[in-house]
Amino acid sequence: MSDTIFGKIARGELPAELVHEDDRALAFRDVNPQAPTHILVIPRQAIAKLSECTPADNELVGHLIQVANQVARQEGLDDYRLVVNNGAGAGQTVFHLHIHVLGGRPLGWPPG
Ligand code: AMP
Repeated sequence: MSDTIFGKIARGELPAELVHEDDRALAFRDVNPQAPTHILVIPRQAIAKLSECTPADNELVGHLIQVANQVARQEGLDDYRLVVNNGAGAGQTVFHLHIHVLGGRPLGWPPG
């Protein structure tokens, strides 16, 4: 598995405030929240970024989105935004695939 911070969280080697856990995915609160709800959904599998996903990952990616919907519901959110930063130029800093779940305040468009 990857040796990123999120790989360590997935292996239980670093603490995180988990809000969901299953055999394929974890969701935990972002340490530097950009909205009242800011949760990260990650696969246990080490995939560096979204663009590395292939059709063989379709079910896993669909599962991550379902987990994102579920944690948003748990947080009482009707309106929320899912964000995947793909690559450093798009703002990705941790190279273990993750979906940001953001909500709890008005979200402007376009994003920065
Ligand atoms: P990105 O910039 O899309 O790669 O997102 C990485 C996110 O991970 C940022 O929003 C960080 O605040 C968050 N982050 C970094 N380290 C941790 C950690 N140990 N636990 C929870 N969130 C983290």
